[in-house]
Amino acid sequence: MSASHVIIGDGIAGSSAAETIREEDPDADITVITEEGEALYNRILIKEFAKGKLPEAPISIHEEDWYAERDIDLELNTVVTEVDTDAKEVHTYDGDTYEYDKLLVATGGTPTQLPVDNADAEGIHHFWTFQDARAIRESAEEADTGIVVGAGLLGIDLAAICGAQDVEANYLMRGNCWWRYALTEDGAEIIHEALEENGVTPVFDSGVDHFTTDDDGHVTGAVDPNGEEFDGEFVGVAIGLNFNTEFLEGSGLELDDGIVTDEYMQTNVEDVYAAGDITRFYDTILGEQAQNGAWGSAKEQGAVAGKNMVADAEEEEFRWVSSYSITHFDFPFLSFGHPTIGDEYAERKYSDSEWRRIAFKDGKVVGGVLIGDLAPQSKFKQLIREEREVGDQKEVLLEQSVDLDKLDASAEVESE
Ligand SMILES: Cc1cc2nc3c(=O)[nH]c(=O)nc-3n(C[C@H](O)[C@H](O)[C@H](O)COP(=O)(O)OP(=O)(O)OC[C@H]3O[C@@H](n4cnc5c(N)ncnc54)[C@H](O)[C@@H]3O)c2cc1C
Repeated sequence: MSASHVIIGDGIAGSSAAETIREEDPDADITVITEEGEALYNRILIKEFAKGKLPEAPISIHEEDWYAERDIDLELNTVVTEVDTDAKEVHTYDGDTYEYDKLLVATGGTPTQLPVDNADAEGIHHFWTFQDARAIRESAEEADTGIVVGAGLLGIDLAAICGAQDVEANYLMRGNCWWRYALTEDGAEIIHEALEENGVTPVFDSGVDHFTTDDDGHVTGAVDPNGEEFDGEFVGVAIGLNFNTEFLEGSGLELDDGIVTDEYMQTNVEDVYAAGDITRFYDTILGEQAQNGAWGSAKEQGAVAGKNMVADAEEEEFRWVSSYSITHFDFPFLSFGHPTIGDEYAERKYSDSEWRRIAFKDGKVVGGVLIGDLAPQSKFKQLIREEREVGDQKEVLLEQSVDLDKLDASAEVESE
Protein backbone atom coordinates (compact mmCIF):
# COMPACT_ATOMS: atom_id res chain seq x y z
CA MET A 1 0.00 0.00 0.00
CA SER A 2 1.27 3.49 -0.85
CA ALA A 3 1.98 5.92 1.94
CA SER A 4 -0.30 8.75 2.95
CA HIS A 5 1.35 12.18 2.64
CA VAL A 6 0.00 15.27 4.34
CA ILE A 7 1.43 18.68 3.44
CA ILE A 8 0.64 21.73 5.53
CA GLY A 9 0.94 24.89 3.39
CA ASP A 10 0.18 25.43 -0.29
CA GLY A 11 2.89 27.99 -0.96
CA ILE A 12 5.59 27.19 -3.49
CA ALA A 13 7.36 24.80 -1.06
CA GLY A 14 4.26 22.73 -0.23
CA SER A 15 2.96 22.73 -3.76
CA SER A 16 6.27 21.72 -5.29
CA ALA A 17 6.53 18.87 -2.76
CA ALA A 18 3.04 17.66 -3.73
CA GLU A 19 3.97 17.75 -7.42
CA THR A 20 7.20 15.84 -6.78
CA ILE A 21 5.51 13.17 -4.66
CA ARG A 22 2.95 12.58 -7.39
CA GLU A 23 5.70 12.30 -10.02
CA GLU A 24 7.60 9.82 -7.86
CA ASP A 25 4.64 7.73 -6.71
CA PRO A 26 1.49 7.58 -8.87
CA ASP A 27 -0.42 5.77 -6.11
CA ALA A 28 0.45 7.90 -3.07
CA ASP A 29 -2.33 9.55 -1.09
CA ILE A 30 -1.57 13.28 -1.04
CA THR A 31 -3.41 15.96 0.91
CA VAL A 32 -2.42 19.64 0.85
CA ILE A 33 -3.90 21.83 3.59
CA THR A 34 -3.86 25.61 3.48
CA GLU A 35 -5.52 28.30 5.51
CA GLU A 36 -5.71 30.49 2.43
CA GLY A 37 -8.86 30.53 0.30
CA GLU A 38 -7.06 30.13 -3.02
CA ALA A 39 -4.65 27.64 -4.52
CA LEU A 40 -0.98 28.43 -5.23
CA TYR A 41 -0.30 31.83 -6.77
CA ASN A 42 2.87 33.70 -7.52
CA ARG A 43 3.71 35.53 -4.33
CA ILE A 44 6.52 37.39 -6.12
CA LEU A 45 4.05 38.96 -8.53
CA ILE A 46 1.46 40.22 -6.05
CA LYS A 47 3.46 43.45 -5.75
CA GLU A 48 2.87 44.11 -9.45
CA PHE A 49 -0.84 43.54 -8.85
CA ALA A 50 -0.77 45.98 -5.91
CA LYS A 51 0.99 48.56 -8.09
CA GLY A 52 -1.99 48.34 -10.43
CA LYS A 53 0.17 46.96 -13.22
CA LEU A 54 -1.18 43.42 -13.47
CA PRO A 55 -4.69 41.95 -13.37
CA GLU A 56 -5.44 38.99 -11.08
CA ALA A 57 -5.37 36.16 -13.61
CA PRO A 58 -1.63 35.85 -14.44
CA ILE A 59 -0.74 35.73 -10.75
CA SER A 60 -2.46 32.40 -10.19
CA ILE A 61 -0.16 29.40 -10.73
CA HIS A 62 -2.53 26.49 -10.10
CA GLU A 63 -6.30 26.37 -10.45
CA GLU A 64 -8.08 23.92 -8.15
CA ASP A 65 -8.39 21.61 -11.19
CA TRP A 66 -4.63 21.21 -11.23
CA TYR A 67 -4.83 19.30 -7.91
CA ALA A 68 -7.92 17.29 -8.95
CA GLU A 69 -6.22 16.20 -12.19
CA ARG A 70 -3.31 14.84 -10.16
CA ASP A 71 -5.54 13.23 -7.55
CA ILE A 72 -4.22 15.56 -4.86
CA ASP A 73 -6.75 16.57 -2.18
CA LEU A 74 -6.58 20.32 -1.66
CA GLU A 75 -8.16 21.59 1.54
CA LEU A 76 -8.59 25.38 1.29
CA ASN A 77 -9.60 27.62 4.24
CA THR A 78 -8.35 24.98 6.67
CA VAL A 79 -6.21 26.00 9.64
CA VAL A 80 -4.02 23.39 11.28
CA THR A 81 -4.04 23.82 15.05
CA GLU A 82 -2.09 20.80 16.26
CA VAL A 83 0.23 18.04 15.10
CA ASP A 84 0.37 14.85 17.17
CA THR A 85 3.56 13.16 16.04
CA ASP A 86 2.97 10.07 18.25
CA ALA A 87 -0.45 9.33 16.76
CA LYS A 88 0.71 10.73 13.36
CA GLU A 89 -2.31 13.02 13.17
CA VAL A 90 -2.92 16.58 12.07
CA HIS A 91 -5.81 18.42 13.73
CA THR A 92 -7.62 21.42 12.30
CA TYR A 93 -9.54 24.34 13.74
CA ASP A 94 -12.76 22.85 12.31
CA GLY A 95 -12.21 19.66 14.30
CA ASP A 96 -11.08 17.45 11.45
CA THR A 97 -8.23 14.95 11.75
CA TYR A 98 -5.84 13.89 8.97
CA GLU A 99 -3.71 10.81 9.50
CA TYR A 100 -0.30 10.67 7.85
CA ASP A 101 2.56 8.32 7.21
CA LYS A 102 4.77 11.24 6.11
CA LEU A 103 4.19 14.87 7.01
CA LEU A 104 5.61 18.03 5.46
CA VAL A 105 5.37 21.36 7.26
CA ALA A 106 5.70 24.23 4.78
CA THR A 107 3.85 26.98 6.57
CA GLY A 108 6.16 29.97 5.97
CA GLY A 109 5.71 33.08 8.08
CA THR A 110 3.37 35.92 8.96
CA PRO A 111 4.48 39.56 8.90
CA THR A 112 5.43 41.03 12.27
CA GLN A 113 3.45 43.99 13.61
CA LEU A 114 5.25 47.02 14.98
CA PRO A 115 5.04 46.97 18.79
CA VAL A 116 3.74 50.55 18.99
CA ASP A 117 0.42 52.29 19.71
CA ASN A 118 -2.22 52.10 16.96
CA ALA A 119 -0.16 49.56 14.97
CA ASP A 120 -3.40 47.77 14.02
CA ALA A 121 -5.28 50.90 12.85
CA GLU A 122 -7.22 50.78 9.62
CA GLY A 123 -5.06 51.75 6.65
CA ILE A 124 -1.92 50.09 8.09
CA HIS A 125 -0.96 47.17 5.86
CA HIS A 126 1.34 44.17 6.10
CA PHE A 127 2.23 42.32 2.95
CA TRP A 128 2.28 38.55 2.47
CA THR A 129 -0.87 37.20 0.78
CA PHE A 130 -2.88 37.93 -2.34
CA GLN A 131 -5.63 39.16 0.00
CA ASP A 132 -3.13 41.65 1.47
CA ALA A 133 -2.26 42.79 -2.08
CA ARG A 134 -5.92 43.41 -2.91
CA ALA A 135 -6.34 45.53 0.23
CA ILE A 136 -3.08 47.39 -0.43
CA ARG A 137 -4.04 48.18 -4.00
CA GLU A 138 -7.46 49.50 -2.97
CA SER A 139 -6.07 51.56 -0.13
CA ALA A 140 -3.13 52.97 -2.12
CA GLU A 141 -5.38 53.93 -5.02
CA GLU A 142 -7.38 56.15 -2.66
CA ALA A 143 -4.48 57.67 -0.72
CA ASP A 144 -2.50 60.85 -1.43
CA THR A 145 0.06 60.44 1.35
CA GLY A 146 1.86 57.38 2.63
CA ILE A 147 4.42 56.01 5.06
CA VAL A 148 6.57 52.92 4.60
CA VAL A 149 8.44 51.21 7.44
CA GLY A 150 11.00 48.43 7.06
CA ALA A 151 14.20 49.02 5.12
CA GLY A 152 14.51 45.60 3.53
CA LEU A 153 13.51 43.57 0.50
CA LEU A 154 9.77 43.64 1.29
CA GLY A 155 9.65 47.24 2.48
CA ILE A 156 11.01 48.41 -0.84
CA ASP A 157 8.08 46.67 -2.57
CA LEU A 158 5.70 48.77 -0.49
CA ALA A 159 7.68 51.90 -1.37
CA ALA A 160 7.53 51.02 -5.08
CA ILE A 161 3.77 50.48 -4.78
CA CYS A 162 3.43 54.01 -3.35
CA GLY A 163 5.50 55.30 -6.27
CA ALA A 164 3.40 53.48 -8.86
CA GLN A 165 0.11 54.54 -7.21
CA ASP A 166 1.14 58.24 -6.99
CA VAL A 167 1.14 58.18 -3.21
CA GLU A 168 3.56 60.79 -1.90
CA ALA A 169 5.39 58.73 0.70
CA ASN A 170 8.04 58.97 3.39
CA TYR A 171 10.12 55.83 3.87
CA LEU A 172 11.14 55.76 7.54
CA MET A 173 14.38 53.87 8.17
CA ARG A 174 16.52 53.15 11.17
CA GLY A 175 20.16 53.96 10.47
CA ASN A 176 21.52 55.88 7.53
CA CYS A 177 20.75 53.64 4.57
CA TRP A 178 18.35 51.16 3.06
CA TRP A 179 19.06 47.48 3.94
CA ARG A 180 22.02 48.46 6.05
CA TYR A 181 22.81 44.83 6.89
CA ALA A 182 23.74 44.08 3.26
CA LEU A 183 24.54 47.48 1.72
CA THR A 184 26.77 50.37 2.67
CA GLU A 185 25.93 54.03 2.03
CA ASP A 186 27.73 53.97 -1.35
CA GLY A 187 25.48 51.30 -2.79
CA ALA A 188 22.33 52.35 -0.95
CA GLU A 189 22.69 55.84 -2.42
CA ILE A 190 21.70 54.39 -5.81
CA ILE A 191 18.52 52.99 -4.26
CA HIS A 192 17.79 56.23 -2.38
CA GLU A 193 17.99 58.27 -5.59
CA ALA A 194 15.75 55.81 -7.42
CA LEU A 195 13.20 56.04 -4.58
CA GLU A 196 13.24 59.85 -4.78
CA GLU A 197 12.68 59.66 -8.55
CA ASN A 198 9.61 57.54 -7.77
CA GLY A 199 8.20 60.12 -5.36
CA VAL A 200 9.29 58.29 -2.19
CA THR A 201 11.46 60.20 0.31
CA PRO A 202 13.89 58.17 2.41
CA VAL A 203 14.02 59.43 6.02
CA PHE A 204 17.08 58.22 7.93
CA ASP A 205 17.67 57.60 11.66
CA SER A 206 13.92 57.41 11.99
CA GLY A 207 11.24 54.75 12.67
CA VAL A 208 7.89 54.80 14.40
CA ASP A 209 7.18 55.77 17.99
CA HIS A 210 3.41 55.60 17.43
CA PHE A 211 0.76 56.03 14.76
CA THR A 212 -1.92 58.70 14.89
CA THR A 213 -5.56 57.99 13.92
CA ASP A 214 -8.80 59.88 13.24
CA ASP A 215 -12.07 59.40 15.16
CA ASP A 216 -12.95 56.41 12.97
CA GLY A 217 -9.72 54.64 13.88
CA HIS A 218 -8.15 55.17 10.45
CA VAL A 219 -4.44 55.94 10.39
CA THR A 220 -3.54 59.59 9.71
CA GLY A 221 0.22 59.50 10.22
CA ALA A 222 3.20 58.48 12.31
CA VAL A 223 5.41 60.16 14.87
CA ASP A 224 9.01 58.98 14.78
CA PRO A 225 11.28 58.52 17.83
CA ASN A 226 12.70 62.02 17.23
CA GLY A 227 9.21 63.51 17.59
CA GLU A 228 8.91 64.29 13.90
CA GLU A 229 5.39 63.90 12.43
CA PHE A 230 4.58 62.41 9.02
CA ASP A 231 1.20 62.36 7.27
CA GLY A 232 0.01 59.05 5.89
CA GLU A 233 -3.44 57.79 4.92
CA PHE A 234 -1.72 54.67 3.63
CA VAL A 235 0.91 52.87 5.72
CA GLY A 236 2.94 49.80 4.73
CA VAL A 237 4.94 47.92 7.36
CA ALA A 238 7.49 45.18 6.54
CA ILE A 239 9.77 44.64 9.52
CA GLY A 240 10.14 40.86 9.34
CA LEU A 241 8.32 37.56 9.65
CA ASN A 242 7.11 35.45 12.56
CA PHE A 243 7.41 31.85 11.50
CA ASN A 244 4.15 29.89 11.64
CA THR A 245 5.06 27.26 14.22
CA GLU A 246 2.49 27.84 17.03
CA PHE A 247 0.57 24.70 16.10
CA LEU A 248 3.74 22.62 16.59
CA GLU A 249 3.90 23.26 20.31
CA GLY A 250 4.18 19.90 22.05
CA SER A 251 4.94 18.08 18.77
CA GLY A 252 8.54 17.37 19.75
CA LEU A 253 9.88 19.15 16.65
CA GLU A 254 13.08 21.09 17.24
CA LEU A 255 12.35 24.79 16.73
CA ASP A 256 14.90 27.59 16.58
CA ASP A 257 13.23 30.64 15.04
CA GLY A 258 11.88 28.24 12.39
CA ILE A 259 11.97 24.45 12.10
CA VAL A 260 15.41 22.84 12.30
CA THR A 261 16.09 20.34 9.50
CA ASP A 262 19.04 18.51 8.08
CA GLU A 263 20.14 18.81 4.43
CA TYR A 264 17.45 16.27 3.46
CA MET A 265 14.73 18.56 4.85
CA GLN A 266 14.06 16.03 7.59
CA THR A 267 13.27 17.27 11.08
CA ASN A 268 14.40 15.63 14.31
CA VAL A 269 11.10 13.68 14.40
CA GLU A 270 10.88 10.61 12.20
CA ASP A 271 8.65 10.95 9.10
CA VAL A 272 8.24 14.70 9.57
CA TYR A 273 9.87 17.04 7.02
CA ALA A 274 9.87 20.81 6.58
CA ALA A 275 10.53 23.03 3.56
CA GLY A 276 10.56 26.66 2.48
CA ASP A 277 10.94 29.89 4.42
CA ILE A 278 10.12 28.15 7.69
CA THR A 279 13.24 25.98 7.79
CA ARG A 280 16.51 26.52 9.55
CA PHE A 281 18.20 23.93 7.37
CA TYR A 282 21.69 22.48 7.39
CA ASP A 283 23.49 24.35 4.61
CA THR A 284 26.08 21.99 3.18
CA ILE A 285 27.96 24.89 1.58
CA LEU A 286 28.32 26.95 4.77
CA GLY A 287 28.64 23.90 6.99
CA GLU A 288 26.09 25.32 9.44
CA GLN A 289 22.36 25.91 9.89
CA ALA A 290 21.00 28.71 7.69
CA GLN A 291 17.79 30.30 6.47
CA ASN A 292 16.65 31.47 3.05
CA GLY A 293 13.60 33.63 2.42
CA ALA A 294 13.32 33.27 -1.33
CA TRP A 295 11.02 31.70 -3.90
CA GLY A 296 13.60 29.58 -5.75
CA SER A 297 15.02 28.14 -2.57
CA ALA A 298 11.53 27.29 -1.19
CA LYS A 299 10.64 25.56 -4.45
CA GLU A 300 13.81 23.47 -4.42
CA GLN A 301 13.42 22.55 -0.74
CA GLY A 302 9.85 21.40 -1.47
CA ALA A 303 11.08 19.21 -4.32
CA VAL A 304 13.90 17.75 -2.20
CA ALA A 305 11.53 17.04 0.71
CA GLY A 306 9.01 15.46 -1.68
CA LYS A 307 11.63 13.12 -3.12
CA ASN A 308 12.89 12.08 0.28
CA MET A 309 9.38 11.56 1.65
CA VAL A 310 8.73 9.03 -1.09
CA ALA A 311 12.13 7.43 -1.34
CA ASP A 312 12.17 6.28 2.28
CA ALA A 313 15.89 6.97 2.16
CA GLU A 314 17.95 10.09 2.62
CA GLU A 315 18.97 10.31 -0.99
CA GLU A 316 18.39 13.86 -2.19
CA GLU A 317 20.38 16.68 -0.58
CA PHE A 318 19.46 20.38 -0.65
CA ARG A 319 22.47 22.34 -1.93
CA TRP A 320 21.55 25.71 -3.29
CA VAL A 321 22.76 29.27 -3.70
CA SER A 322 19.74 31.49 -3.24
CA SER A 323 19.09 34.77 -5.02
CA TYR A 324 16.50 37.54 -4.86
CA SER A 325 16.09 40.31 -7.40
CA ILE A 326 14.35 43.67 -7.37
CA THR A 327 12.88 44.99 -10.59
CA HIS A 328 11.29 48.27 -9.51
CA PHE A 329 13.87 50.62 -10.96
CA ASP A 330 15.51 51.20 -14.33
CA PHE A 331 18.61 49.29 -13.18
CA PRO A 332 18.69 45.65 -12.03
CA PHE A 333 19.39 44.61 -8.42
CA LEU A 334 20.28 41.18 -7.12
CA SER A 335 21.18 39.81 -3.75
CA PHE A 336 22.71 36.31 -3.78
CA GLY A 337 23.77 33.75 -1.20
CA HIS A 338 23.98 35.11 2.33
CA PRO A 339 25.03 38.75 1.87
CA THR A 340 24.81 39.68 5.57
CA ILE A 341 26.85 36.98 7.30
CA GLY A 342 30.34 37.89 6.08
CA ASP A 343 33.33 38.41 8.37
CA GLU A 344 34.92 40.47 5.59
CA TYR A 345 33.51 42.47 2.67
CA ALA A 346 34.80 43.98 -0.59
CA GLU A 347 32.88 46.60 -2.54
CA ARG A 348 33.21 49.00 -5.44
CA LYS A 349 31.10 51.64 -7.14
CA TYR A 350 31.55 51.67 -10.92
CA SER A 351 29.11 54.43 -11.87
CA ASP A 352 26.01 56.27 -10.59
CA SER A 353 23.97 53.12 -11.10
CA GLU A 354 26.50 50.30 -10.75
CA TRP A 355 27.85 48.88 -7.51
CA ARG A 356 28.98 45.56 -6.15
CA ARG A 357 29.58 44.13 -2.69
CA ILE A 358 30.89 40.66 -1.93
CA ALA A 359 30.65 38.96 1.47
CA PHE A 360 33.41 36.56 2.54
CA LYS A 361 33.45 34.15 5.46
CA ASP A 362 36.59 32.25 6.40
CA GLY A 363 38.08 33.46 3.09
CA LYS A 364 35.24 32.07 0.96
CA VAL A 365 32.56 33.99 -0.91
CA VAL A 366 29.21 33.46 0.86
CA GLY A 367 27.01 36.08 -0.77
CA GLY A 368 26.74 39.60 -2.06
CA VAL A 369 24.75 42.33 -3.75
CA LEU A 370 24.95 43.44 -7.39
CA ILE A 371 23.42 46.70 -8.58
CA GLY A 372 23.35 47.74 -12.23
CA ASP A 373 25.23 44.82 -13.76
CA LEU A 374 24.17 41.28 -12.88
CA ALA A 375 26.52 39.60 -15.36
CA PRO A 376 28.96 38.29 -12.69
CA GLN A 377 26.24 36.54 -10.69
CA SER A 378 26.80 33.08 -12.15
CA LYS A 379 30.55 33.32 -11.46
CA PHE A 380 30.01 34.35 -7.85
CA LYS A 381 27.47 31.59 -7.38
CA GLN A 382 29.97 29.13 -8.84
CA LEU A 383 32.63 30.29 -6.36
CA ILE A 384 30.15 29.83 -3.50
CA ARG A 385 29.21 26.33 -4.65
CA GLU A 386 32.86 25.38 -5.08
CA GLU A 387 33.73 26.78 -1.63
CA ARG A 388 36.92 28.27 -3.06
CA GLU A 389 39.21 30.26 -0.81
CA VAL A 390 39.52 33.55 -2.69
CA GLY A 391 39.39 36.07 0.13
CA ASP A 392 42.94 37.21 -0.64
CA GLN A 393 42.06 37.96 -4.29
CA LYS A 394 39.41 40.62 -3.87
CA GLU A 395 40.83 42.81 -6.67
CA VAL A 396 40.11 40.13 -9.27
CA LEU A 397 36.55 39.80 -8.00
CA LEU A 398 35.99 43.55 -8.06
CA GLU A 399 37.11 43.98 -11.67
CA GLN A 400 34.12 45.13 -13.68
CA SER A 401 34.22 42.02 -15.82
CA VAL A 402 35.02 39.07 -13.58
CA ASP A 403 37.35 36.47 -15.06
CA LEU A 404 37.71 33.43 -12.82
CA ASP A 405 40.73 32.30 -14.84
CA LYS A 406 42.61 35.22 -13.32
CA LEU A 407 42.21 33.77 -9.87
CA ASP A 408 45.33 32.33 -8.38
CA ALA A 409 45.41 28.69 -9.49
CA SER A 410 46.33 27.71 -5.96
CA ALA A 411 42.92 28.93 -4.75
CA GLU A 412 41.69 25.74 -3.24
CA VAL A 413 38.64 23.95 -4.62
CA GLU A 414 37.24 22.05 -1.68
CA SER A 415 34.34 20.28 -3.28
CA GLU A 416 32.66 19.43 -6.58
C1 LIG B 1 5.25 40.72 -1.60
C2 LIG B 1 6.32 39.68 -1.68
C3 LIG B 1 7.32 39.77 -2.64
C4 LIG B 1 8.32 38.81 -2.74
N1 LIG B 1 9.26 38.94 -3.71
C5 LIG B 1 10.19 37.98 -3.85
C6 LIG B 1 11.14 38.04 -4.91
O1 LIG B 1 11.14 38.97 -5.71
N2 LIG B 1 12.06 37.02 -5.02
C7 LIG B 1 12.06 35.96 -4.15
O2 LIG B 1 12.89 35.05 -4.30
N3 LIG B 1 11.19 35.89 -3.13
C8 LIG B 1 10.25 36.87 -2.96
N4 LIG B 1 9.36 36.79 -1.92
C9 LIG B 1 9.50 35.71 -0.93
C10 LIG B 1 8.89 34.42 -1.44
O3 LIG B 1 7.59 34.68 -1.90
C11 LIG B 1 8.87 33.41 -0.30
O4 LIG B 1 10.21 33.12 0.05
C12 LIG B 1 8.17 32.11 -0.69
O5 LIG B 1 6.88 32.36 -1.17
C13 LIG B 1 8.10 31.17 0.50
O6 LIG B 1 7.33 30.05 0.15
P1 LIG B 1 6.86 29.01 1.26
O7 LIG B 1 6.09 27.99 0.51
O8 LIG B 1 7.98 28.61 2.11
O9 LIG B 1 5.89 29.85 2.24
P2 LIG B 1 4.55 30.65 1.95
O10 LIG B 1 4.47 31.10 0.54
O11 LIG B 1 4.46 31.68 3.02
O12 LIG B 1 3.40 29.57 2.15
C14 LIG B 1 3.02 29.09 3.40
C15 LIG B 1 1.57 28.68 3.35
O13 LIG B 1 1.23 27.99 4.56
C16 LIG B 1 -0.04 28.41 4.98
N5 LIG B 1 -0.17 28.21 6.44
C17 LIG B 1 0.54 28.81 7.43
N6 LIG B 1 0.14 28.36 8.64
C18 LIG B 1 -0.85 27.46 8.40
C19 LIG B 1 -1.66 26.67 9.25
N7 LIG B 1 -1.54 26.67 10.59
N8 LIG B 1 -2.60 25.88 8.68
C20 LIG B 1 -2.75 25.82 7.32
N9 LIG B 1 -1.99 26.55 6.47
C21 LIG B 1 -1.05 27.36 7.01
C22 LIG B 1 -0.05 29.88 4.62
O14 LIG B 1 -1.35 30.38 4.57
C23 LIG B 1 0.63 29.86 3.25
O15 LIG B 1 -0.28 29.65 2.23
C24 LIG B 1 8.35 37.75 -1.81
C25 LIG B 1 7.35 37.65 -0.82
C26 LIG B 1 6.35 38.60 -0.76
C27 LIG B 1 5.28 38.49 0.30
